[in-house]
Amino acid sequence: MGEPTMGDRLTPSRRQLLVGAAAGLTCAALPQVASAKAPMANTQAPGFYRFKVGAFEATVVSDGPLRLGEPSGDVFTGVSKEQMTKELDDNFLPTDNVQLEQNVLVINTGDRVVLFDTGVGTAKAFGPDSGRLIASLKAASVDPKDVDAIVLTHAHPDHCWGLMADDGNRNFPNGQIYMAQADLDFWTDEGKLADAQLKDFIAGTRKHLLPNRDRMVFVRDGQEFLPGIQAMAAPGHTVGHTVYVITSQGKTLCNAGDIAHHHTMVVENPRREFVFDTDGKQAVASRLRVFDMLASQRVAAVTYHFPWPGLGHIGKQGERFHYFPTPLRTVL
Ligand SMILES: [Zn+2]
Repeated sequence: MGEPTMGDRLTPSRRQLLVGAAAGLTCAALPQVASAKAPMANTQAPGFYRFKVGAFEATVVSDGPLRLGEPSGDVFTGVSKEQMTKELDDNFLPTDNVQLEQNVLVINTGDRVVLFDTGVGTAKAFGPDSGRLIASLKAASVDPKDVDAIVLTHAHPDHCWGLMADDGNRNFPNGQIYMAQADLDFWTDEGKLADAQLKDFIAGTRKHLLPNRDRMVFVRDGQEFLPGIQAMAAPGHTVGHTVYVITSQGKTLCNAGDIAHHHTMVVENPRREFVFDTDGKQAVASRLRVFDMLASQRVAAVTYHFPWPGLGHIGKQGERFHYFPTPLRTVL
C-alpha cells in the first residue's frame, strides 16, 4: 500500500462538506421555534492575562490598541506602501489598518506591585480604543492605589501619558517612578517646544512627568534597582529607551518595551528603522543586541506593541528573527 494521494485525503472532508450543506438545508426548513436565541454579548473578554515568573505573579493588562491606519511608505525606512501591504497580507493581517497593541506588564513580587508603562491616557491621537488601562487593572483586581512602582521604558505618549488623570490627580498616587534621566531631560525640554515635529509630544509629556519630578528615581544601565528587576539600556527609539529583565527563582522575563514595533515586519527585518525613532540606527543596534540575548538565552519577553498579550519568544533564523507567541494557558 503506498502513500495516500492528495485526492484520497480530500475525499472524506469533501463528503463532510456536502453532508453539512444538506444538514443546513434541513435546519432552514425547520419551524422558527426550534432555534435558540440569545442577545449578542457585544463585549470582549476582560483585558488581562496572568502567568508566573518564578515566585512573581505577572499580569499583562491592555490599554487598548492604537490604530496607525492604512499602510504608508516610510513608516519603516525603505519600505514602500506596496511592500508593507504585501507583507501584511502574506501574514494574514488586515491591510486597511495597521494596529499596535499596548501591553502593560504588572509584576507582583510579593512585596511590591510594579507597573511597566502607563498607556496613552485619554489622548485619542491613535483612535478611540485606547485609554483602557485603569479599567483593565480593575478587571484584573489590581487597585491603582496598590501600585508601588511605575517603571517607564521611555517617555513617549503611549507609555507615560497615563500617569496623570485629566483632573490633575495622579492615577497611581502611591507609585514611585523609575526611568532613565536622559528621557526625562529630552522629552520635557522647553527648548524643543519650537520644533514642529516634537512640540505636541513635548507639551503633553511635560504635563505628565514634571508634576512627578519629586517621586522619580533614575535607573542606570545594568542596575538592579528593585529586587529581581534590572535595567538594560537599549537607546535609539528614544535617547533613554530601557528594557527590563525580571528574574525570580531562576526564571526570567524581559519587558522589551519598544525594542520592535511589529512582530513580523520588524522582527523578520530587524534592521528597519521606525518613523518615531529618535536615532533609527542606534535603535537597530539596540534591537539586534537585545534580540540576540533573548534568542540565545531563550528568554521570554513581553513586547509592548505586539499582538495581545505580547508574550513570546524571539528565535534567530540566519540573519533574521522570528516571533513565537507563547501559547496562552487557561490554568495559572
Ligand atoms: Zn510605543
